[in-house]
Amino acid sequence: MHNKQDIRNLSDVEIQSFFVQNNEKPYRIKQLKEWLWKKGAGSFIEMSSLPLNIRELLDKHFNIHGLCLEDTAISGDGSIKFLFRLFDGKYIESVLIPTERRVTACISTQVGCKLGCKFCGSGKIKFQKDLSIGEIFAQIIFLQKESNARYNSNLTNIVIMGMGEPLLNYFNLLLAIEKITSVEGLNISPQRVTVSTAGIPEIIRKFADLQIKFNLAVSLHAANNHKRSFIMPVNKLHNLDALLESLLYFYKKTYNKITFEYILLDKFNDTLQDAKELALLCNKVPCKINIVEYNSIELCEFQQASQETLNTFVEFLRKKNFTVNIRKSRGNDIFAACGQLANKKI
Ligand code: SF4
Repeated sequence: MHNKQDIRNLSDVEIQSFFVQNNEKPYRIKQLKEWLWKKGAGSFIEMSSLPLNIRELLDKHFNIHGLCLEDTAISGDGSIKFLFRLFDGKYIESVLIPTERRVTACISTQVGCKLGCKFCGSGKIKFQKDLSIGEIFAQIIFLQKESNARYNSNLTNIVIMGMGEPLLNYFNLLLAIEKITSVEGLNISPQRVTVSTAGIPEIIRKFADLQIKFNLAVSLHAANNHKRSFIMPVNKLHNLDALLESLLYFYKKTYNKITFEYILLDKFNDTLQDAKELALLCNKVPCKINIVEYNSIELCEFQQASQETLNTFVEFLRKKNFTVNIRKSRGNDIFAACGQLANKKI
């Protein structure tokens, strides 16, 4: 039944008034929420601590939309990419990334993306909609079950850097962080939650003001406006000065260091001059730097920088005393960069 609302998309007030209208006791709401956000129930019937009449009542009025698994691709390095069809027929992707000590879920917040970064698979998919909190959370629940089944472990980390620009789905992102980190939800430490943005200064400030805890990663990818605007059109709207100002504000409010993501693209942003510009920029805000090996995709003009170039680039930054991590491209063989499986499908 597609016309029933996903109950996870209702506000607390709406749920309360539904219970009041139906003469049900308010303490049942707590039980319902526990099933939804802690146990990740996929149906009302399985909510065994609720009386059958309430389960049937809820089932009559609401839905808990699951994700329909359309495709799975397992990479040689163990990353698993899932392509899901939503109840409305649209497609999203999520990735499960196991390493020795972690199981990380990478989830999407939009169908397609408005920002059109040149190196990105999702940027090639037309923006279709913001995901609801139900649709965001359903990915985590699916991946949590996969992680339990495959690795006998709960998810240890959540990165919100799949399809879409999370900060442009602000309210649902806020809710998602709350459901992931709160005791009433999955109770995952905010230190293990990373939100990755192309940089929307106004929203970064909003998050700073709310002082909500999570790691903020910024897709920088070029340290001067000319190059950044070329690969990330959003930079024409919010240039590096505006972005840095908001990041400094975020740091002053939260004392959370920013993570800069920098994809090294062959003969585009990989010279010593680029490294110097990056160092200058990174001096302006407490940060660490992730140098990411590019996952070349068919639809884009860029190629991965050579290993030698990468080493020189990283060495230069480390000599300047920056904390630099190299992120190996994972899942190269399975279209693991965001949007690539969906692109294939579409
Ligand atoms: S990198 Fe992120 S913001 Fe840019 S197009 Fe891809 S999904 Fe959108």
